[in-house]
Amino acid sequence: VAKGAGKGRWRRYQSDLHTAVLERLELRAALDQAVKDHQFVLQYQPIVDLETGVPLGFEALVRWNHPTRGMIAPGHFIEVAEESGLIVPMGRMVLQQALSTAGRWQRSTAQGALRYMSVNVSARQFRTPGFVEEVRQMLHTSGVEPGTLLLEITESLLLRNDDQVRADLDALRAMGIRLAIDDFGTGYSSLSYLQHMPIDVLKIDKSFIDDMLSSTQQRAVVTAIVQLAQTFNLSVVAEGVEEAGQREALQEIGCPYGQGYLFARPLSEPDAFALIPKTAPFAAMA
Ligand code: C2E
Ligand code: MG
Ligand code: MG
Ligand code: MG
Repeated sequence: VAKGAGKGRWRRYQSDLHTAVLERLELRAALDQAVKDHQFVLQYQPIVDLETGVPLGFEALVRWNHPTRGMIAPGHFIEVAEESGLIVPMGRMVLQQALSTAGRWQRSTAQGALRYMSVNVSARQFRTPGFVEEVRQMLHTSGVEPGTLLLEITESLLLRNDDQVRADLDALRAMGIRLAIDDFGTGYSSLSYLQHMPIDVLKIDKSFIDDMLSSTQQRAVVTAIVQLAQTFNLSVVAEGVEEAGQREALQEIGCPYGQGYLFARPLSEPDAFALIPKTAPFAAMA
């Protein structure tokens, strides 16, 4: 507090802090209840072939369906869930629900119509002992092919240089599960890890896509990431594509896949299902 700001302002500041702490505690308690009562629901956002606009797969995105406050976006609770450890049981429910949906969708569409289901995994959830076994069990129960599951992890998990993390990534990969780096470019990418980490897909963070039409520098960053992906034989998805101009620019650069409001917002299960091509198989995400 600046000198001479007066006691009134300080007290107000203290009371704001107090309120913030209280709100966090209340949020934590409410989240605890949400886990007990299974208040989480998933929405599904298509990831499309930029050439054709056809969805190849979906990203499952969690929402908290609060009994009185309605749908709450993850930005409001993921951090507290992570800090409190509630992200672990929540993440387990998310995976279970996403796999059960993928299984149902695959059984009611032609072989190859739903290429993958992409699920976010927090670092804390990933590092929980038994995670790999749980995933194996859930795949088995849902009847979903391991190759259908794409796990989105963050750069920070890879940069820990943790032997157990590495062993678990290898184990998941050996099961046939694929791994994506989410929000690529926002972390402290030590690009060298791409050479030796078992990664399949880069998801270019929305912040780069946002400015790629107005900033030649941001466009150059996107171009560099796409080239990097090609060099390391990875697939690449642009996140947060909102405008036709961005789609065109991405295609010029050679980015094959995209996700964003231009194609669809995150959708309810039936609305997402309606977008799956019901007949011919499409090219796999290379
Ligand atoms: P994310 O994994 O990078 O997911 C993409 C986010 O961008 C989603 O926000 C999606 O709705 C939003 N988005 C997609 N296209 C556009 C677009 O064209 N414009 C704009 N403005 N936004 C777009 P959402 O669903 O609010 O999720 C936010 C973040 O919360 C996710 O970012 C992810 O980090 C986290 N999250 C979501 N679901 C889960 C989950 O089940 N587990 C964990 N651990 N984290 C999750
Ligand atoms: Mg994601
Ligand atoms: Mg992302
Ligand atoms: Mg993001």
